[in-house]
Amino acid sequence: MSYREPPHRRSVLKGLLLITFVSGLLFFILNSQRGLYALAALELGAALYSLALYRVATHTRHLDAWIMAYLLPFLSIMMFALAQPRASDTVFVWVFLIPQISYLLTGVQRGFVITGVYFLAAISIFYYRFHDSASLSPVSTANFIICAMAIWSFAHHYEQGRERFSRRLLHIAERDSLTGLLNRMRLAEIVSSEIRNAETRGQTVGMILLDLDHFKQINDSYGHPAGDNALIYVAEKLQSVVRKTDYIFRIGGEEFCILLPGADLDGAGEVAESARRALEQGGLNVAGTPVPFTASFGVAVSGEDGMDLGALYHAADERLYMAKAAGRNRVVADDISPLLVPGFPS
Ligand code: GH3
Ligand code: MG
Ligand code: MG
Repeated sequence: MSYREPPHRRSVLKGLLLITFVSGLLFFILNSQRGLYALAALELGAALYSLALYRVATHTRHLDAWIMAYLLPFLSIMMFALAQPRASDTVFVWVFLIPQISYLLTGVQRGFVITGVYFLAAISIFYYRFHDSASLSPVSTANFIICAMAIWSFAHHYEQGRERFSRRLLHIAERDSLTGLLNRMRLAEIVSSEIRNAETRGQTVGMILLDLDHFKQINDSYGHPAGDNALIYVAEKLQSVVRKTDYIFRIGGEEFCILLPGADLDGAGEVAESARRALEQGGLNVAGTPVPFTASFGVAVSGEDGMDLGALYHAADERLYMAKAAGRNRVVADDISPLLVPGFPS
């Protein structure tokens, strides 16, 4: 299970499948005895379908699609049951489940549409069945409609708040709060899946590590807030040299990582050189004074430098260290010619 998937959906679906199985069998027996054969057959079908889906719901990676494959037939059979002239009046209590299960299983947007459509259908059926019935008082109608609308409203507001809250938590969990870049935790998750994807396409993944040069001096000379601004500025500069499909992470104080799916060593080296040049050109000012700074870069590529985060990171980090040792403000992309001067590839 991905941690992005709302954790309750799978268990709610499995719970509903069990309820559908048990109640489907029960109503199949009861409605067969009452001679409602079409409804009984549908109820037996729903019971068997939910039994088959139960196993799928435990393991599937396409939970959203299976939820729709369950929910729409389930609600349609419910409408069919409501429309049976000989069905008991109390069958309408099932309508109150519609907002609960639609919002819990599909979220606020789909939940709103599904509830709206099936509520409209249920109210139309209610009117069609009872409009000329002497037993139906305006009070009964009002009870039914007000209660349904209240449950809908509560379900909507609860789910809206829950979605907003979990989006916020997700953002905090995977982003650096200063620059908004992805954090180290996401690097670990993304590297392995991108290496796997690239491998199936016969491609490689480039990794660039960069560390700002003498950054402590910026803090010491201009103050910590100016250092923070410089880090935000670096994040923006890095974003300007990569493609939309690349990833940028802040992995430590003034250390960043760029992941380039589909890039080879030359391609990743060129991106590193563009970033180096972009930072060297300057552009950051503190109170009108230009603040010059540079960065050193180490580049590695999946395949020849390894197939997991540990190996790739180690190779890129060693080269970054070489770039520092060779005088900083440079890109090192292999172990044989580590002294690439500014202007890579020469
Ligand atoms: P080198 O070229 O060898 O990398 O030198 P350096 O000064 O950049 O390296 P060092 O590791 O000695 O210092 C890193 C500095 O980065 C120390 C710390 O003051 C600063 N730093 C780390 N995180 C932050 C941050 O979030 N905000 C600010 N303003 N400074 C930070
Ligand atoms: Mg540094
Ligand atoms: Mg550092």
